[in-house]
Amino acid sequence: MKFSLTEHNMKTFLYALRGMGIDSYVTDRMSGLTLPILQKTVKGCYKCPLAETRKNIVFGEGSSNAKLVFIGEAPGEEEDIQGRPFVGKAGKLLDQLIEHIGLKRESVYICNVLKCRPPNNRDPDKKEIAACKNYLFSQLDLIKPKIICTLGRHAYNTLFDVDERITKVRGIAKDYRGMILLPTYHPSFLLRNQDKIKEAWEDMERLKQLLKG
Ligand code: URA
Ligand code: SF4
Repeated sequence: MKFSLTEHNMKTFLYALRGMGIDSYVTDRMSGLTLPILQKTVKGCYKCPLAETRKNIVFGEGSSNAKLVFIGEAPGEEEDIQGRPFVGKAGKLLDQLIEHIGLKRESVYICNVLKCRPPNNRDPDKKEIAACKNYLFSQLDLIKPKIICTLGRHAYNTLFDVDERITKVRGIAKDYRGMILLPTYHPSFLLRNQDKIKEAWEDMERLKQLLKG
């Protein structure tokens, strides 16, 4: 039988590859996926029970050409209400960290591992992360930033599929699929542990240098 490669069966083939665990790195770019299309998909997502309790999806926001992407954990109460990432107290601190690098919030991209709020701001659980993480991977594949700054342990552990303590990995830049990844503390943690703010400022200085280089 002759097999002709139409756009439709190419897409089907690429999605099948992804289903088989071949990562989204190749497939997103070839399948015509864009951030707005992905956002629409996420809006209709019921892959985990957080869909039942969320008020709004928090997809992420910022520049699709951002050189720097910040990744948090999951939306909190205010984020759930507004449908935007980091708009509560922790967000105010993140804005200050971004300003410290000499950047504007609109020029970076900000998102989370989970796109829906866990009730009472509890930690994301393993099943929720497993259900949601491909959306984050696709966001990174589409934006392809020079630098990723993970905030807190969940973002770092999700990207590397490990279970490290943030105090062990913070401030150590690593390669993540050709991008530079610098882990730092989560702003909510910094609000509770103000003695760590100095290290966070140092990480922002480092980001500044990495962006220039
Ligand atoms: N904490 C997060 O991890 N993400 C947000 O968007 C807000 C608070
Ligand atoms: Fe879907 Fe992620 Fe929301 Fe769960 S948290 S319903 S996987 S978008």
